[in-house]
Amino acid sequence: MVFETAFYDILGVQPNSTPEELKKAYRKLALKYHPDKNPNEGEKFKQISMAYEVLSDPEKKAIYDAGGENAIKQGSGGGGGFHSPMDIFHMFFNGGFTGRKSERKSSNLIHTLGVTLEELYTGTKRKLVLQKNVICETCEGIGGKRGASQKCAPCRGTGVITKVQKIAPGLVQQCEERCRNCRGLGETIDDKDRCKECNGRKTVRVRKLLEVEVFQGMMDEQRIVLQGEGDQEPDHRPGDIVLVLEEKPHAVFKRNGQDLLAHVELQLSEALCGFRKVIKTLDGRDIVIQTYPGEVVKNFSTKCVMGEGMPSLNVPTEKGRLIIQFVVTFPDSLPPEIVPEIRKCLPNLPPEPIPEDCEEVEMIELTEEQYQMMNDDDEDSQDSGRLPGHGGERAHMQACNSS
Ligand SMILES: [Zn+2]
Ligand SMILES: [Zn+2]
Repeated sequence: MVFETAFYDILGVQPNSTPEELKKAYRKLALKYHPDKNPNEGEKFKQISMAYEVLSDPEKKAIYDAGGENAIKQGSGGGGGFHSPMDIFHMFFNGGFTGRKSERKSSNLIHTLGVTLEELYTGTKRKLVLQKNVICETCEGIGGKRGASQKCAPCRGTGVITKVQKIAPGLVQQCEERCRNCRGLGETIDDKDRCKECNGRKTVRVRKLLEVEVFQGMMDEQRIVLQGEGDQEPDHRPGDIVLVLEEKPHAVFKRNGQDLLAHVELQLSEALCGFRKVIKTLDGRDIVIQTYPGEVVKNFSTKCVMGEGMPSLNVPTEKGRLIIQFVVTFPDSLPPEIVPEIRKCLPNLPPEPIPEDCEEVEMIELTEEQYQMMNDDDEDSQDSGRLPGHGGERAHMQACNSS
């Protein structure tokens, strides 16, 4: 008599079943309820794994038979901790509980996930549909009827054919190529015994819907690894799905780590007489920036707003800075009659003395390109002689740091 039969019931076996029957029951149910096939049956998959973990271990089975699930949970040795259902699954399909972890692993599937700066600011959940190989449920990853597979003769079960090629008299070259007879599997199955579902390939291609959480503050090129969600192959640990984030450029903000940079264009009148302007934040709020009375904002000057940058990945409530660089648009000309009025309002120096015998010359326009070309000829003055606005940005940002 056993104390309770719940674990046996979950696997649909009798308490006196053999280890073989137990394995068979687990194999069938685990493949059926694996989250890849049945994403909504996670609880069931967990129960199957737990039941199998206990009943396949003679020591744990004895404890369970005597005292039921509670006895296991109070647990002798190790506090009765369970492996994760995925671990059980992988250990099982890697050739049972030998304690030896298979070194062979299916290759990872790498995908790019394009995200907007808004999504990186607020965090988001994204649904993706991906194609992947899973172990065939019909043949349970064997490829056909049990015992029907035979070692492939041409490659002697290695899956690889070694060829010797004569490349010159007395000189040979050895090369290895995948066995065509078994497609590198090392075994063959007669046509009549071959699994109809997977055509002997042992795996089938399925569409998998994945939900991925992009956390607040994640970075461009950051990787999200969905462990074990990649391709499955018999005798291999399943590969991972690796999603590489790709931050899309934003119309207003440029990101620099936790800081956001924005250019704000000002008319000269705003630069001289002040302004109030609204900036739409990445989470849709309107923040107002303004000058204090009498303040003059210079071209390419920067200011920053603390706490309006990107959230930190670890502590999303901690945000970086919003760094604003002002770009002042100067008018091309002024009506000559108002110039004296404006001059009166602006700081002035007394006029410079002009010698009697001076020569008057004419200035003509020099475009930025012309100026640049002249500068590039002179290698020593790479950064020294640029017009404002060329390479000036960095310097101004540093000014913001120190203020
Ligand atoms: Zn199959
Ligand atoms: Zn072969």
